[in-house]
Amino acid sequence: MDEIYDLIIIGAGTAGLVTAQYACRSNLNALVIEEKMEGGQATLIPLLENYPGFPEPIDGFTFAEKMKLQAVQFGSKFLSGKVTGLGKKKHLFSVSVEKSDDSIQTLEAKTVVLATGAAHRQLGIPGEFEFYGKGVSYCANCDGPLFRNKHIVIIGGGDAACDEAGFLAHLTDRVTIIHRKHTFRAQRALAERTLKNPHIHVRFNSVVTAINGSKNENGHEKLTSITVENVHTGAAEEVACDAVFISIGMDPRTELAALARKDEAGYLITDENMQTSIPGLFAAGDLRAKPFRQLVTAAADGAIAARSAAEYIDIHIRGT
Ligand code: NDP
Repeated sequence: MDEIYDLIIIGAGTAGLVTAQYACRSNLNALVIEEKMEGGQATLIPLLENYPGFPEPIDGFTFAEKMKLQAVQFGSKFLSGKVTGLGKKKHLFSVSVEKSDDSIQTLEAKTVVLATGAAHRQLGIPGEFEFYGKGVSYCANCDGPLFRNKHIVIIGGGDAACDEAGFLAHLTDRVTIIHRKHTFRAQRALAERTLKNPHIHVRFNSVVTAINGSKNENGHEKLTSITVENVHTGAAEEVACDAVFISIGMDPRTELAALARKDEAGYLITDENMQTSIPGLFAAGDLRAKPFRQLVTAAADGAIAARSAAEYIDIHIRGT
């Protein structure tokens, strides 16, 4: 008979990896399924400076590697693949996983923690799609070094945009942040540091309405400018630049939990034990409706979700 897992964790970002670690420490037989690289959003943070216990900033990639190692050391198993279906029959969940060879594997579990996080939001403006990978990017840590000493534009005003601007300002002295409001949404200390950075120029009350480019001497498409509009006056201006990093937030990835309760923005509603409206299905991390999305709150969600899954199995499955 195929193995029935105590817990399947979908998503290996901070929430998923911490869930795995805590679940295994509670003697649950846990499997983590991840479609891409383990570590999730943490891997995109150039220098993580607000995670407790790391007074010296640590790069997000190393941080994520350490989290995975901890989960592995406690006995967590990992499977690479895309979860395409999640269902529940009586007490058992079935999880369909599409593997890299296109085969589908169906697994069973007593509980599931959804830790699929959120996906990068897109602007939907002309040029965004056409110049993706040719100057447009959603990941400063990944693609920033390609634009050393160039003029880099960042769109957005949250923690991520300010964090990324700080990182990029080490690579070039020409970083421009374009934000639609008159102040940053980012945490105050980060916003103040961004405003003081001599390499960062900020254009508030402005939106980018188009990303423009042309063919270079080799016939390759190349991003060359953006069109910026003042939200008050409507005045439009073309600004020359070499790269555009879009950092306007994320959308929760909740498609696997179509029947679970969500808030008006589409985030999964849980109780304080991370229990969704479907018994035995828990949620942890950025896909959950909550006031503050941080690595530290994702980690806390994971610890609670693992404990709740263990309790659920004791009460509802083992009947103890
Ligand atoms: P946020 O949702 O916090 O910020 C998104 C920003 O993009 C806002 O300034 C928003 O503007 C702007 N925006 C959204 N849509 C558009 C649009 N269509 N056009 C122009 N601008 C737009 O997302 P982040 O990615 O910054 O952060 C996600 C979560 O991760 C947050 O909870 C954040 O705290 C956390 N995080 C924490 C870090 C840290 O602690 N170091 C680092 C990175 C992320 P407006 O303000 O007008 O709504």
